[in-house]
Amino acid sequence: MGMGEGSIFPVEDALEMILMFDGEGVISYVNNAAKKKLEYGDDLCGRHIKDVFPNLFKDREKDFEAVPQGDEAPRNLVAYRRNMTCFPVEARFMGSKSCPGVYICMANDILEKEFLSREIEQVRQEAQEAQKVKSEFVANVTHELRTPVNGILGNVKELLDHADAMDAQTLKSLKLIERCCGDMHKIINNVLDFSKLEAGKFTLEPRRFHFRNMLDYVRSKHINKITEKGLGFFMTVSPQIPEYIIGDELRIGQVLDNFLSNALKFTAVGKITLEVLRTAWVNDKMELFFMVSDSGIGIDKADKDKLFQSFSQVDASISRKYGGTGLGLNICKQLVELMGGRVEVESEKNKGSTFSFSIWVGISEEDKGAVPAQGEAKTIPLFSAQSMEEDEERFENIRKFGTQENKENLQKNLSKLILCVEMENWEKAEMFMETIRQLTEEAPQDVKRAVLRLKMAIQKENYDKVTENYEELNNLL
Ligand code: ADP
Repeated sequence: MGMGEGSIFPVEDALEMILMFDGEGVISYVNNAAKKKLEYGDDLCGRHIKDVFPNLFKDREKDFEAVPQGDEAPRNLVAYRRNMTCFPVEARFMGSKSCPGVYICMANDILEKEFLSREIEQVRQEAQEAQKVKSEFVANVTHELRTPVNGILGNVKELLDHADAMDAQTLKSLKLIERCCGDMHKIINNVLDFSKLEAGKFTLEPRRFHFRNMLDYVRSKHINKITEKGLGFFMTVSPQIPEYIIGDELRIGQVLDNFLSNALKFTAVGKITLEVLRTAWVNDKMELFFMVSDSGIGIDKADKDKLFQSFSQVDASISRKYGGTGLGLNICKQLVELMGGRVEVESEKNKGSTFSFSIWVGISEEDKGAVPAQGEAKTIPLFSAQSMEEDEERFENIRKFGTQENKENLQKNLSKLILCVEMENWEKAEMFMETIRQLTEEAPQDVKRAVLRLKMAIQKENYDKVTENYEELNNLL
């Protein structure tokens, strides 16, 4: 049958013991596992099957016709080794379909099987335990970190109350500490959320809340920075959304917050829009669709898939330039999924990005009556009274080096930059510098080189160099 020594027959190295025997009970083939477990060599071939399973065949010495022809349930038997010691097995017998008169026995060592499954179970439990310990550790540590950070923050705030009695350098240092504490707070909260979500211990806290007030609050948190950067901001909310809805206000706000801060972080010129629509209404549930668009740096097609992974930032240079832990989007994705929706992203490099998500919220009986079935969405423009189309064109022109809009914008950003430098607010100066860099992307080489020199001077926080390079750039423009 070509199944002897050195055969490539796939059962040869199977973990299960496999034996073949004929109608007379004479063994014609055994695989490696059978040879090893039964402690025979090749000489097991030629022996009688009852040498291995004496109990099964003792009544029917020669009658193997009784062996079933198809699959049958495994039987618990005792297999004997050459030295007459024995062990329990789970065995199946069948007649070979392709070779009549040939029977096959497949047997597993029960003790070994049990041992293995116990071991697998133990490894699984240990892994689970380790995961739990890790999540708990992360949750505890981050929780504990809050106390000292709050302590530092409280004291700094107290010191800042007596700012008049302070020299400029001390004041600057204290403000820096205050800002660092704020950043640390954000990171701690993110890690805490992340570890809870990972451990499946996160619960939403839905309750009735005023939807537009929540949006206004979220907007108010970002509006200063948006205006400061000279960006446009538009918010459109469908009137089909009731005044009050039931949902986790804090978490919906958190997701929006995250998308808006990213939009703000990665947009130097143009606008940010937030649109909210009602996409479905079934009994006491509504599906809301949120869309946050920006005209910022955009994301490469190839990098899009990496976006929602934890700790992932599109590329290292971006994280160096803009900071961040890369947890935000992953948390948003998980939160949105908990709220019954999903996050999508559309983006084009250098053109902008749109992050959208849908969630299901509740609507109480008392609020149902007040909901219009239809209605026209109204855009609430901020900072600009022009229509969206006009703005589109204006933003397009701002980007084009040499246009009137571009010139005006450059001047505006340059004067803001120099003001920040005068006040030694280097972080803000860097922000305006990034805008200037983007506004001069299409500029001639000499301008671009001057921009680069100014940028380096700002990074080095070198006041004299900045004024020198600023003059140089200003003359070129
Ligand atoms: P982080 O907390 O570091 O900002 P996120 O998970 O929020 O992390 O974002 C991960 C990365 O996704 C960012 O570092 C950036 O590369 C990219 N990204 C997110 N939002 C935008 C956007 N609006 N425009 C361009 N890139 C974005």
